[in-house]
Amino acid sequence: MEYNNLAKLYEELEKTTKRLEKTFVISNFLKETKNEDIQTIVLLLQGRLFPNWDTREIGVASRIVIKAINLATGIKAEQIENEWRKKGDLGIVAEELVVKKKQKTLFSKDLTVNKVFENLRKLAELEGMGTVDKKINLIAELLTSAKPVEAKYIIRTILGELRIGVGEGSLRDAIVWAFFGDKIGVRYDEKEKSIDVRDRTEYNKYVDAVQKAYDATNDFSVVAKSSKKGLTELEETSLAVGRPVKVMLALKVKDVREGFERCGKPAEFEYKLDGFRIQAHKNGKEIILFTRRLENVTKQFPEVVEFIKKNVKGDEFIIDSEAVGYSQKTGKYLPFQSISQRIKRKYDIEDMAEKFPVELNIFDILYYNGKNLLNEGFVKRRELLEKIVKQEKRKIILAKKFVTDDEKEVEKFYKEAINSGNEGLMIKKLDSPYKPGARVGHMVKLKPTLENLDLVIVGAEWGTGKRATWLSSFTLACVDDDGNFLEIGKVGTGIKEKEEEGVSFKQLTEELKPLITNQKGREVKTKPKVVVEVTYGEIQKSPTYSSGYALRFPRVVKLRLDRGPDECSTLNMVEDFYYSQKKK
Ligand code: AMP
Repeated sequence: MEYNNLAKLYEELEKTTKRLEKTFVISNFLKETKNEDIQTIVLLLQGRLFPNWDTREIGVASRIVIKAINLATGIKAEQIENEWRKKGDLGIVAEELVVKKKQKTLFSKDLTVNKVFENLRKLAELEGMGTVDKKINLIAELLTSAKPVEAKYIIRTILGELRIGVGEGSLRDAIVWAFFGDKIGVRYDEKEKSIDVRDRTEYNKYVDAVQKAYDATNDFSVVAKSSKKGLTELEETSLAVGRPVKVMLALKVKDVREGFERCGKPAEFEYKLDGFRIQAHKNGKEIILFTRRLENVTKQFPEVVEFIKKNVKGDEFIIDSEAVGYSQKTGKYLPFQSISQRIKRKYDIEDMAEKFPVELNIFDILYYNGKNLLNEGFVKRRELLEKIVKQEKRKIILAKKFVTDDEKEVEKFYKEAINSGNEGLMIKKLDSPYKPGARVGHMVKLKPTLENLDLVIVGAEWGTGKRATWLSSFTLACVDDDGNFLEIGKVGTGIKEKEEEGVSFKQLTEELKPLITNQKGREVKTKPKVVVEVTYGEIQKSPTYSSGYALRFPRVVKLRLDRGPDECSTLNMVEDFYYSQKKK
């Protein structure tokens, strides 16, 4: 396919903010896309070259893009920078400047989607000496052949700012409409911008099937490819060892009684450990560890890999667990924050493993020796774990369980959990399946505290005086159902001046600096990537912020490196908390 077709689609998507219209436009495009292009198109539609769990990144900074535009057009870097300052978008700058290209080069030819994809993938894979020049050449090669509108989207894709507003929900529905729409009678009214379906229940069945395949694969390109083949293929698209699965999430309950209501009697109770989630895969010999954000942390936790190798029987499996830090002196569990720095650590790994040891608490299994266990009841899955895990204290154990139907007994267990430093209890429904990515109430959590919010930082301000080299006041946002980030306030407290325990200004500055997309005076905007846990005195309605809410006395509690922006608190949660505080 010619890249120009895709660029036109991007333009069309950029023109509308209406979700259904976007879905319709994408679904028509997918219908027309040939089998061999479908995966590439679905990735590029998300502004990606790899599925979202793949750690490879394009890794090209604005300054390299400027050099590439310079090489392709002959226009001076200074002028490009000036234009950038005026327009605030290097994509638009590229679009305007390739028109002014001194002359068409001899090598200029129509770009195909494959050619663009190939060059961009190479950007992500380059390593070692001379990388910068090679990157500039790869981009310039594309720009030399690009039509203006193509240049705009190539640059935006490279910089990770596609700006076409296509969320996961739209893409999922577009796949349903494209490949099953005729069969289930989906009709889109272009004038009214509304849809009509013959039978809602049937329609939802297909939406659920696509969502289910996505939750298990984390890759819409795979889901689209199998949907194009048919429903049977779609339904068979599920777990694969080595490819992370979205973890099952927990709903919150207010007391033990509600826990039983959700999970039935008897139910299994476990400590809610204050560590971080690890999904471990074994494929033959290799062990791969993923966080709940599906990041590969195998290298950061060599000792965990060893524990699993040695203590879990089986050739192939996917297990779900919580890694909890403990004090070497006292042997007692430590809060998550004490080990959080291990998650992103790239050097002195062995040293860190010694200083900040973790114990792996396994609580679920999704796949075992060729068998998908998602639909197996929880008790059966737990029984299997009991057979295959050799427990060794302070290395690898099964989460402590307590099965009962007695509220009083649970209260005792709950107290015991809190007193020994845990966050509360997890309650699990005995016969439930494992639902990747879902908060369906098969497992619920019971915690005593007022719920903190996990918010993503979308902007900040450079400090003054002795804080001049640090970002200081941070703009926070929650997420709505379409994946838009909506501001909810600014926070500057709870952050430490020194690098002691807790979050420091220096650390936040280091995390955020590479994410800056725009700067005006002291104010910067950042890509929504860094999530912080925030407490507050109260949530208020407010016209100041785009969420319509503001936090009173917000304070940063933790930097949540284990959480992605798509996992931060939703607008619905903020609304719920707002109304529940009013009831009190
Ligand atoms: P929350 O982060 O508050 O949504 O609570 C859910 C998280 O609790 C999970 O993602 C796990 O990381 C963690 N957790 C701690 N102990 C357990 C347990 N026994 N079973 C399941 N999840 C647990």
